[in-house]
Amino acid sequence: MNLTLDAGAEKIIETLEEKGYKAYAVGGCVRDLLLGKIPDDYDVATSAFPEEVIAVFGRENVATTGLKHGTVTVILKGKPFEVTTFRSESGYSDHRRPDSVKFVGSLAEDLKRRDFTVNAVAYNGKEGLIDLYGGLSDLENGVIRAVGDPYERFSEDALRILRAARFSAALGFKVEEKTARAAEELAKDLEKVSEERIFAELTKLLAGKNATETLLKFHGVIFAAIPELGPCYKFLQRSKWHRYDVYEHTARAVGYVKGGAVEKWTMLLHDIGKPDCFSVKDGEGHFYGHNLRSAEIAKAVLKRLKAPKAFSEKVVTLVSVHDKPIRFTSAAVKREMSAIGKDLFSSLLEVKRADNLAQGTPLALSETGNADKLKEIYEEVLRRGDCYTLAALKIKGGDLVSLGYKGEETGKELKKLLEEVINGNLPNDRERLLAEAKKRVK
Ligand code: ATP
Ligand code: MG
Repeated sequence: MNLTLDAGAEKIIETLEEKGYKAYAVGGCVRDLLLGKIPDDYDVATSAFPEEVIAVFGRENVATTGLKHGTVTVILKGKPFEVTTFRSESGYSDHRRPDSVKFVGSLAEDLKRRDFTVNAVAYNGKEGLIDLYGGLSDLENGVIRAVGDPYERFSEDALRILRAARFSAALGFKVEEKTARAAEELAKDLEKVSEERIFAELTKLLAGKNATETLLKFHGVIFAAIPELGPCYKFLQRSKWHRYDVYEHTARAVGYVKGGAVEKWTMLLHDIGKPDCFSVKDGEGHFYGHNLRSAEIAKAVLKRLKAPKAFSEKVVTLVSVHDKPIRFTSAAVKREMSAIGKDLFSSLLEVKRADNLAQGTPLALSETGNADKLKEIYEEVLRRGDCYTLAALKIKGGDLVSLGYKGEETGKELKKLLEEVINGNLPNDRERLLAEAKKRVK
């Protein structure tokens, strides 16, 4: 079998071979090539020791931050390639980091430590595909299967449990039975895995084309990573709006939403506070205030997982307003754009659409056009260049101070003027705004 490697990776492999070492592209990059995808990054496995790799490529062309794991990053034309000496890992007393990394003599031993058969494949031009664990057949059949005994492999490194679910979601593969059982049974070990790694894997899982199915099937794994979601499981809503329980609705909403990590995480967390806010009146279930309770929990979850602060703020804002009704007028739309910013407002429309779709009742589905109506108004506001922010208002705090405004009165008056411009009661015209402000000066 012939695969076309990235020119840089090929150069690194050939250079090492010329010096008498073995070298292969290995892991995810080979998997992606076999799937006909362009790999994001290339890993190279070699028989050369790190010092030898450095000597071959020259100290000035390498970064050595991964040295204690046997990794040298070779930089070719500005692009980094991780070159790692064949190694095995032994003794995982903390379920997350090998106690020691041992260099080994062969590629075969190196492949054995890899997580799944589809990731335990290697390639170079000379020897072609090296597939000792049936990775190619699992790729063709769409199967995620641990290399060796899944119980052992998940006990060594609990992150692999979440990676199994992640690859299933991203590739649309099923997880082989024993591997799936081990993942569910050992899921609680995820509590020992670093928060950053959990966040990164969950983010990739949520982006996957089969995220909904994976969230439903591997709920135990998901709840081990985010225990706060547990109470949503099979929580009946008793609402004419909702066809599904809170967790199934959540899983479906993740699948429906268009956008990136912010929108995906928003859907995962948007109703997380519902179980805390449940009440029943005249036989109908209600969740008053769940948006704010969900935002509060979302904030705590994202903080624990060490999500970047700016990212977390966007998600928390979207969760807190996800169910806010917005009238179909440009004033109402501009008011929301002013409150959360135009880009987040655009995300909010995607969130609302996904929420409606995932409610799944005729009543909710009849509302899915609302996001489109709001989007039309939003686009018209942008096209016309309407003012909806203090920054765009043709009068500034300094102008009000010159008129005699003091302290917090200045800010209040600016907001009042903006509100009148948004309402259409005043044009965004400097003279008119000054005249209006003058009438109200104390
Ligand atoms: P992605 O497409 O997201 O980069 P990937 O499979 O390449 O997926 P990486 O984290 O880049 O994931 O890892 C590269 C390779 O290293 C994997 O394909 C696998 O062979 C091995 N690997 C990564 N993490 C683990 C792990 N926790 N346990 C065992 N092997 C792993
Ligand atoms: Mg990779």
